[in-house]
Amino acid sequence: MKLNKIEHIGIAVKDIDVAIKYYQKVLGLECYNIEEVKDQKVRTAFFMVGETKIELLESLEPDGPIGKFIEKKGEGVHHIAFAVDNVMDSLKEAEEKGVQLIDKAPRKGAENMNIAFLHPKSTFGVLTEFCEASE
Ligand code: ZN
Repeated sequence: MKLNKIEHIGIAVKDIDVAIKYYQKVLGLECYNIEEVKDQKVRTAFFMVGETKIELLESLEPDGPIGKFIEKKGEGVHHIAFAVDNVMDSLKEAEEKGVQLIDKAPRKGAENMNIAFLHPKSTFGVLTEFCEASE
């Protein structure tokens, strides 16, 4: 297993426009991309901080994964995403080492990344994402 960097931190918010204002006006970051990921029922907004991104996540529907997360836990850190060279290989290795997977194979996330999640039951409560750039 080799994690190259923290690619992004995903943060669940109720109202992405209000949250974007905070990140821009208070923290001085620039939102460079807003994108909907339909199969995840989310709108995302991205900011660069050094080599790492902040990914804001707003649910498009109350029954989406982010909607349910906010209902249970409130707004806040939702997941940490590590950049890896090959998501499939990293998933296999994690599974071999006893980690429960949410995704058995990579799928498409925002920014055209291949992504997959490990189950927080196996990762001390941290929803963990592997991601790799796809061309
Ligand atoms: Zn993510």
